[in-house]
Amino acid sequence: MDFKLTPDEEAFRDEVRAFAKENLSPEARKSPGFLANWLKKVREKRWVGFNWPEAYGGGGGGIMEQVILKEEMAKAGAPPLGLCLMGLQWVGPAIIEYGTEEQKQKFLPDILDSKYQWCTGYSEPGFGSDLASLQCKAVRDGDEYVINGQKIWTSIASWSKWMILLTRTDFNTADKHDGITCLLVEMDSPGIEVRPIKNMAGGSLFAEVFFENVRVPVENLLGDEGKGWAVTVSALAHERSGISEVAGLVRQLEKTVELAKHTRHNGRRASEQPSIRRRLAKADTIIEGMRLNGQRFLTKQLKGEPLSSETSINKLHRAFLAIEFGDLALEMLGNASQYLGSEDTSGVDQNLWPNGVLDWPTVVIGGGTPNIQRNIIAERILGLPKD
Ligand SMILES: Cc1cc2nc3c(=O)[nH]c(=O)nc-3n(C[C@H](O)[C@H](O)[C@H](O)COP(=O)(O)OP(=O)(O)OC[C@H]3O[C@@H](n4cnc5c(N)ncnc54)[C@H](O)[C@@H]3O)c2cc1C
Repeated sequence: MDFKLTPDEEAFRDEVRAFAKENLSPEARKSPGFLANWLKKVREKRWVGFNWPEAYGGGGGGIMEQVILKEEMAKAGAPPLGLCLMGLQWVGPAIIEYGTEEQKQKFLPDILDSKYQWCTGYSEPGFGSDLASLQCKAVRDGDEYVINGQKIWTSIASWSKWMILLTRTDFNTADKHDGITCLLVEMDSPGIEVRPIKNMAGGSLFAEVFFENVRVPVENLLGDEGKGWAVTVSALAHERSGISEVAGLVRQLEKTVELAKHTRHNGRRASEQPSIRRRLAKADTIIEGMRLNGQRFLTKQLKGEPLSSETSINKLHRAFLAIEFGDLALEMLGNASQYLGSEDTSGVDQNLWPNGVLDWPTVVIGGGTPNIQRNIIAERILGLPKD
């Protein structure tokens, strides 16, 4: 596949660059209401949900332009284009693919307008990696489903208005992937209890969510009853794709290299230490591999083929890099680990490095652990025997 930009694509890239330059200057970033203004402007340009159908408020744009937009935004260190992150990343795409006309009209514009948050109710105690064994039960009762069960590690459940929820409607299937049903659930429905879980960084990002006789209208069924696994696979592929994340990783590598140049380690500049140089070079090589692999996804997408297992390769590399950049920074900074989890901002770069180290579980575990990605690569790409 030739990825050389056409004149129209180059013009679009220049437009995005000029927009970012004008709206993301240091002065603009310091101005009051910067984020609100930013969100309004990118929405007006229809760059939020860039490739979503225009009929629902999206940009109706092509895949290549979307990649250009995301790459340029990542290079510019731009804030997100919308605040409803899960909505934009996978709930919206799943609704576009599997939703009814009513669901599309009801939910997609709100996601684009960052009106409220969505959370994802997949994992259960004992069923995280082995998600297809989930037990949260939904029973059809007239025009409603009645839900009983529990979810865990549900990010932002405490402040979400809606949840994309996986339930089991059939406990007697030969294949555990059958009988799973995806429902869109309003979080203030009677019978839902959210109990926040405190994480090691001190925050309460995620929660346990309990369902006791929660009634959900049948019109909130996403996809067909018993076929929710297909909805999930599509949503997880969207979560794991992210070709443009490479631009963000390049920025992170550049920052780590800068840190190495300005930090003394074992009596000399860290950037002069062979062990540190080797690790930086390895990170650079991995990022280049991710870029090339990302182009493989892009080729498939441009041909209209669905994304599937190959996105696990980049997810695995991203997990490695999330830990590696944190480890490298802590090694170079030496005593910075004293700031881990602290609100003290007196250290190097306001202690962004040690505090960033505590964020790795989001990238590494969220969306499937490295072992699970390895299993997927081994079985579905390399054709090795099943685990
Ligand atoms: C920050 C964060 C945010 C999250 N947000 C959400 C969310 O919003 N919604 C949601 O539903 N879930 C969320 N999760 C949960 C996440 O998806 C699960 O934690 C993850 O899928 C792993 O499941 P588990 O915790 O049950 O671990 P387990 O599946 O019990 O795994 C434990 C260990 O065993 C290994 N393992 C398991 N099975 C195998 C196997 N077959 N072969 C080899 N090794 C194996 C795993 O790699 C891991 O090291 C979040 C997790 C984190 C850390």
